[in-house]
Amino acid sequence: MKIMVQKFGGSSVENPERIKRVAERVVSCRKKGWSMVVVVSALGDTTDELIELASQITDNPPAREMDMLLSTGEQISVALLAMAIQELGYDAISLTGAQVGIMTDKSHTKAKIIDIGASRIKKELEKGRVVIVAGFQGVTEDQDITTLGRGGSDLTAVALAKAVSADTCEIYTDVEGIYTTDPRIVPQARKLKAITYDEMLEMASLGAQVMQARSIEVAKKFDIPLHVRSSFSFNEGTLILKEADIMEDFVISGVTLNKNEAKITVCDVPDKPGIAAKIFKEVSKTGVNVDTIVQNVSRKGYTDLSFTVPLADLNKARSLTEKIARSIEAGGILEDKEIARVSIVGVGMKTHPGVAANMFEALADKKINISMITTSEISISCIIEKKNAEKAVRAVHAKFGFGK
Ligand code: ADP
Ligand code: ASP
Ligand code: MG
Repeated sequence: MKIMVQKFGGSSVENPERIKRVAERVVSCRKKGWSMVVVVSALGDTTDELIELASQITDNPPAREMDMLLSTGEQISVALLAMAIQELGYDAISLTGAQVGIMTDKSHTKAKIIDIGASRIKKELEKGRVVIVAGFQGVTEDQDITTLGRGGSDLTAVALAKAVSADTCEIYTDVEGIYTTDPRIVPQARKLKAITYDEMLEMASLGAQVMQARSIEVAKKFDIPLHVRSSFSFNEGTLILKEADIMEDFVISGVTLNKNEAKITVCDVPDKPGIAAKIFKEVSKTGVNVDTIVQNVSRKGYTDLSFTVPLADLNKARSLTEKIARSIEAGGILEDKEIARVSIVGVGMKTHPGVAANMFEALADKKINISMITTSEISISCIIEKKNAEKAVRAVHAKFGFGK
């Protein structure tokens, strides 16, 4: 039995017409003899709409209830897709995360998968059914519904591909593959034939929403090649693979943009050992991911300390940081929501000098000020003003030209 996992994102199942198109595509593979496991996201912007609905009730929705709410989106799409496939004369069954046995930890809204029971899926496949699984959701050992973080249907697909030992895993979305940058910001962006797990992971972590970062971690861990392609065409998309399998050799693979971060600055922090440890230890206990950190030069025993956090965690991070600032007798707190992160990613920068300088020059040419810089082995990120975000992406993308 050759097994194919296909995942369809929200825009691919936005309305009944698109759901029918997806059904046809799935059936065409079934006809060719594939056993099909299909993962679907919620219709269109359903997840955003559900989040908005909750915000009309409370500023602080309990995470457990949030998961109960958000998981309904995917439950709608699996049922509709199963109906559409049955309408074409093929047997199909929809299953929730819990029914499949996608077991997670208890960290609601960003749960980690602990285990997947493949037996139910295999049983259904053996009956010749197309198995349609609700993306983005799992269940705890206490039978509480969890979700896997935004974009989590990608993770469902990859984890299922591993669990059922799939022969191939395809991720269908609303663009033709992975591009050198978001093609909605730079229409001239080039589609990549292939990209390494490491580069894709870095791009995803730095804001390229096309794949969820954690799904790439899992794909890399188990070496599951992914084919990212469009649900609106039959063109080849982009393969995500290990480095050894990549033929192209570019210095930079992509430019990313993240506008979902905020900067917190703790002013006049007493400049003595242990203070940074105290601040970041406390913040990490709340599960907030601190990113770029910059500490200014000490002035008369005091310094300013800035760091970025996800916009969604700003309230939590700010109130905690305020408390810590008081306890260490710092001057006060500033927050800035008007920031954006522009990054370049590429394994080639390990061996090519001058990449950072080129990026800074591209920003300088457009008179864009850089307030923070971070680097990793294969990426360079600059924090700039949000109002310059798209201009910066275009400038940096053009600067690299994406030649060899
Ligand atoms: P889905 O609903 O299918 O999961 P997403 O909206 O999560 O789709 O991701 C697809 C979007 O990611 C594209 O519409 C595109 O605007 C955006 N994107 C950002 N960076 C890139 C990139 N480098 N290559 C392709 N798409 C990108
Ligand atoms: N529906 C979820 C979201 O919008 C999961 C996904 O689309 O992958 O984040
Ligand atoms: Mg997505």
